Amino acid sequence: MPMFKKQRQIIVLLSNMFFAGFSLTAQKLIPPPITNENWSKPYEAFRIAGNLYYVGTYDLACYLITTSGGHILINTGLASSVPMIRSHIEALGFRFSDIKILLATHAHFDHVGGMAEIKKTTGAKMMINEKDAPVLADGGNSDYVFGGRGSTFEPVKADRLLHEQDTVRLGGMQIIVLHHPGHTKGACSFLFDVKDEHRSYRVLIANMPTILDQTKLSGTPDYPDVANDYAYTFDALKKLRFDIWLSSHASQFGLHGKRKPGDGYHPGAFIDQKGYDAMIDDLHREYLKRLSDK
Ligand SMILES: [Zn+2]
Repeated sequence: MPMFKKQRQIIVLLSNMFFAGFSLTAQKLIPPPITNENWSKPYEAFRIAGNLYYVGTYDLACYLITTSGGHILINTGLASSVPMIRSHIEALGFRFSDIKILLATHAHFDHVGGMAEIKKTTGAKMMINEKDAPVLADGGNSDYVFGGRGSTFEPVKADRLLHEQDTVRLGGMQIIVLHHPGHTKGACSFLFDVKDEHRSYRVLIANMPTILDQTKLSGTPDYPDVANDYAYTFDALKKLRFDIWLSSHASQFGLHGKRKPGDGYHPGAFIDQKGYDAMIDDLHREYLKRLSDK
């Protein structure tokens, strides 16, 4: 019965292809479970200071900087946050399609999950530190903590690689990139000035050097220098002076203690060098403790 044999072969072949394709897709994108409901909980968009706006979720901070040459978006939250970010930007009276530059504080799925979709929709240029670029390009599979289990977010190839002290320019805005490795190899903070009708503000969007439970400060073959990188980052962060302090998570800079829903424009609420210094000191103590436990 050669006919049947052939048919059976085709069926086996097709089902193999199906399962191969299925497992390939499954391997391709496995977002870690969302353990913090504040990550996807809605929050209202608002003007922080001058041309800087908060467009993130309740806890995953996303920042929009508007300029005459288009907009800069820093961080996207989860992949599922994109419709919320879009409606925030539109509610503020800006066009989503005017986003020209995408930046990220670090390449983890809770901050870059929506980059691929936003880049596709807007054609914006993705710029990220050279050491986080490979992680962004494989959807987090090469991350030194979360990696090795497939992609946790949709991969994005960077258009420009950033380094310590590089400047990102758009429509008169100048953003200084500060490389603060440890949390990821290419984690970055951003320093820039915005102004309103009263004054100008120096803004720091800090990638706070928190240490994941799984991180081995004794080093691993793919990140032997992790402890030294953290030490460098603490030293660098302690030297920074600014007016407004923001970070990757709203909880880190105390957004919900500093502002309530419905509050009007009040940049002064976010002027907090003292709170920043105290948190860096706390994190540094935790680092030293972890280092002595290692
Ligand atoms: Zn992270």
